[in-house]
Amino acid sequence: MQEIIDFHAHIYPDKIARKATENVGHFYGIPMDNVGNVNTLLAVGRRAGVTGYVVHSVATTPEQVPSIHSFIASQCLEHEELTGFGAFHPDLTPAQAQQALDQIKELGLKGVKLHPDFQKFNIDDRKMYPFYEMIAGKLPVLFHTGDDRYDFSSPTRLARVLSDFPNLTAVAAHFGGYRRWDEAQAVLPKGKVYIDTCSSIAFIGVKRAQELIRHYGADHVLFGTDFPMWDAKDELAYLEEMDLSQEERDLIFSQNAKRLTSR
Ligand SMILES: [Zn+2]
Repeated sequence: MQEIIDFHAHIYPDKIARKATENVGHFYGIPMDNVGNVNTLLAVGRRAGVTGYVVHSVATTPEQVPSIHSFIASQCLEHEELTGFGAFHPDLTPAQAQQALDQIKELGLKGVKLHPDFQKFNIDDRKMYPFYEMIAGKLPVLFHTGDDRYDFSSPTRLARVLSDFPNLTAVAAHFGGYRRWDEAQAVLPKGKVYIDTCSSIAFIGVKRAQELIRHYGADHVLFGTDFPMWDAKDELAYLEEMDLSQEERDLIFSQNAKRLTSR
């Protein structure tokens, strides 16, 4: 059986899931068919054959960070298919930032998710540098990247951070940068940066996506759905259309994810 890990899934507590999902749909102008709660994630994934999930929420204020950590960790305890990522916010004080990282460690969270467009900071803002310093060489950071409507999360800014922090394990979501796929390909360090496959193939097509997988290397590509944005079944169907070896599929669908979350 093919193990399939969805590396990019958002979940929200039941009482805010509907509203949070609507807000995200509105931000991207994309109708959302699913509600971003854990039961829907598991049901939709199971139908598509997904066997594991890396789940995260984005902190839009510094105050949300500790409660997001508790929520994600509690969901991981309840559902063995889940691996949790923590949150971070650029406006945390140095003491709060340290607490956030301590909490991530205590709760067994395996990385950090940042969404510079929702959190309104430039990836290469100097105020983020102490955080990169603390996390480099320890846990992976999943960056929302791209979107040509904003410049917060441009692949160029991420490339700058990666050259300043060679030890930082970064996943540039959405094939390196949503709607900035060419820029990402030109500036991101291939063989070092990881990319995920979500929210892109519907726009760039299977052929271009496969080219990008070859460019970044199958050992640096992670399958993801951006749940609740897209249905796992549809996202998987795109990958099934590609000409990938079993070895490449194993890397993209599970081995890379396991390697990144094994600490
Ligand atoms: Zn995301």
